[in-house]
Amino acid sequence: MSSQHWLIPATEELGFKLLKGHIVRITDVEGEQVADFVAFNANDPSERLDPGVTLDTVRSKNVTPGDIIYSTRYRPVFTILSDTVGRHDLLLPACRPEMYEVLYDKKDHISCYDNLNHALAAFGIPAADQHTPFNLFMNTVVDADGSVRVERPLSRAGDYIELRAEMDLIVAVSACPCAESACNGYTCTSIAIDIR
Ligand SMILES: [Zn+2]
Repeated sequence: MSSQHWLIPATEELGFKLLKGHIVRITDVEGEQVADFVAFNANDPSERLDPGVTLDTVRSKNVTPGDIIYSTRYRPVFTILSDTVGRHDLLLPACRPEMYEVLYDKKDHISCYDNLNHALAAFGIPAADQHTPFNLFMNTVVDADGSVRVERPLSRAGDYIELRAEMDLIVAVSACPCAESACNGYTCTSIAIDIR
């Protein structure tokens, strides 16, 4: 597999295959843009990247280079090789149409949930009942009293994270289409993907 590059336009998505040992770089092109990132075992899609299992094994909500991102079956999916931001989210689900109705009183809003399902369908992976992605560049703050809020990403133009695949994977990425909150700095922009 030679190196490949894609630009995901604002509010859109991408699916791709990533073989074990290959490296994916996800870049926040303009800054303050979240990328909802999911991955499934290419040989058995019933196993997928699991942020909850990763929290359980890494024992921190702030993963750093050298940390492993785990699967539903407690097996390594990725190793973080480099990260110019240091703030991502392992806690929150993908945005979905119902979220926009409940939180923002908007119907039929484009969402990461639908984007990811669309990208994965091209690889024969059926729609999930819910996606809990590794939310790259998402700045979720948990206060000492337990309250949770999403603030503007810390990422600036050109910031990136690099992940090495530890198994053959089908990956889907959504450039989060939420312009209603600080999640994406109130403006949706593009995400770049490079694999090598
Ligand atoms: Zn989203």
